[in-house]
Amino acid sequence: MYLESELGIIGCGIAGVAAAVYAKRAGLKPVIFEANTLGGQLLFMETVDNYIGLPLGTKGQELATNLRNTLDNLGLQIINKLVSAVNIRENKIVLQTDEANFIVKALIIASGAKFKQLGLKNEDAFLGKGVSYCAVCDGFFFKNKPVAVIGGGNTAVEEALYLSEIASKVFLIHRRDQLRALDYLQKELFSRKNIEVLFNSQINQIKGKDFLESVTIKNSQSNQEKELPLRGLFIAIGVKASTDLYKDIVSLDEGGFILTDDNMKTSHESIWACGDCRKRPLRQLITAASEGAIAAISAYKHIKGHYISS
Ligand code: NAP
Repeated sequence: MYLESELGIIGCGIAGVAAAVYAKRAGLKPVIFEANTLGGQLLFMETVDNYIGLPLGTKGQELATNLRNTLDNLGLQIINKLVSAVNIRENKIVLQTDEANFIVKALIIASGAKFKQLGLKNEDAFLGKGVSYCAVCDGFFFKNKPVAVIGGGNTAVEEALYLSEIASKVFLIHRRDQLRALDYLQKELFSRKNIEVLFNSQINQIKGKDFLESVTIKNSQSNQEKELPLRGLFIAIGVKASTDLYKDIVSLDEGGFILTDDNMKTSHESIWACGDCRKRPLRQLITAASEGAIAAISAYKHIKGHYISS
């Protein structure tokens, strides 16, 4: 079965929602796909701190609910299906799902990014058994237990701060001698009594029987290895763009992020990209939302035949 639409939007994090809202308000009827739950990375955020106009302490889940309400109020429905293939046929784009194929004139990719893995041998085997990529989701299980967070960016420090309120002890394990997290986060980190930062350190092994019991870490300065007893290991080493589906259709950078111009237009004349799947200078909700809006208006102009390239 083939269904036709002017515009397809893949992904319903904040970038995809913003694109849908702007497309609808411009008079388009986008088909919106989300294989999982609306909200994307918002669902993993305890509070949303850097989004202007929201009451302080707003939860990521609350903002996701508001986004869902916004779509509902605009009469926009989400197709809760995985787009498994994207093919170009003449000047049309064909999106394949297990139920139907959709032919669209223009496509906005807002597929976001996934947590990066350390690549350790048994990392997957311990997932849900001590290893996690989300303190907000799983921190609760580690009440009064020792945990570690890996990474030196904003996410790692935020996770360590969050966990320090729950766990007995939090180790922040970072591979270099300097964190890249913002100053205010670092200041808070170093003020917490139950957080210990282990610099120049990398994990070599995850150990345990049925559940995580310890990790082996190596110090790159002293070359010494030590075993650290732990119950929880939170990996916060950044994200990988979810762009495998598009690698033969649009240009990506060496990290797999989609390259666009200022209008969010990709190397394909009818495809736009916004949010974390795109190469961008600032990975924030506020920039993802604005990129979604720009992508929608650019795609709208393209569909209506008055698009001028930047
Ligand atoms: P990030 O800034 O890319 O930091 C990733 C961290 O993981 C870096 O410290 C990196 O080490 C380390 N790392 C990467 N690969 C590793 C490996 N294989 N083994 C060990 N360590 C590894 O990622 P992020 O913290 O998730 O942040 C992503 C983006 O979201 C950033 O732009 C960030 O500013 C933004 N963000 C902002 C906020 C906020 O403003 N409150 C909160 C969260 C995220 P090196 O430092 O040695 O490279």
